[in-house]
Amino acid sequence: MAIQETLTVRTSRRRELLDLTDRVRDVVRKSGVAAGTCHVFVTGATAAIIVNENDDPQLLDDFMDAFDRLVPEGRWRHDRIDDNGAAHIKAAALGPGEILPIAAGDLALGRWQNIFLCEFDGPRGSRDVIVTIHGG
Ligand code: ZN
Repeated sequence: MAIQETLTVRTSRRRELLDLTDRVRDVVRKSGVAAGTCHVFVTGATAAIIVNENDDPQLLDDFMDAFDRLVPEGRWRHDRIDDNGAAHIKAAALGPGEILPIAAGDLALGRWQNIFLCEFDGPRGSRDVIVTIHGG
């Protein structure tokens, strides 16, 4: 049996990283699952989920700068359709979801690991993030 909850996330900028760790952790703790897995998935083709550090805010800017250098804006065929080719490519490269371990009734993240929604084509009034928990 799986437990599932959809988190609604509002984004406020064209591109940003939003830390979802506390909200996902709440779902895991409420589930009562002691050991298992937690799947976090963002719907939509221009956002991604990553796991990384949220201690130095400069690192979040570094991520966005690096993604922009890897996939520059404004040179994609799809831009002629809705001007967000780079957002699609970044989202596809990073992927829409992550699977995280649950141990002792909690997310088993490392000290420097947080869960982020990467918005590449905001702002969006709502992004749906589906959290699915398997385990016992
Ligand atoms: Zn598009």
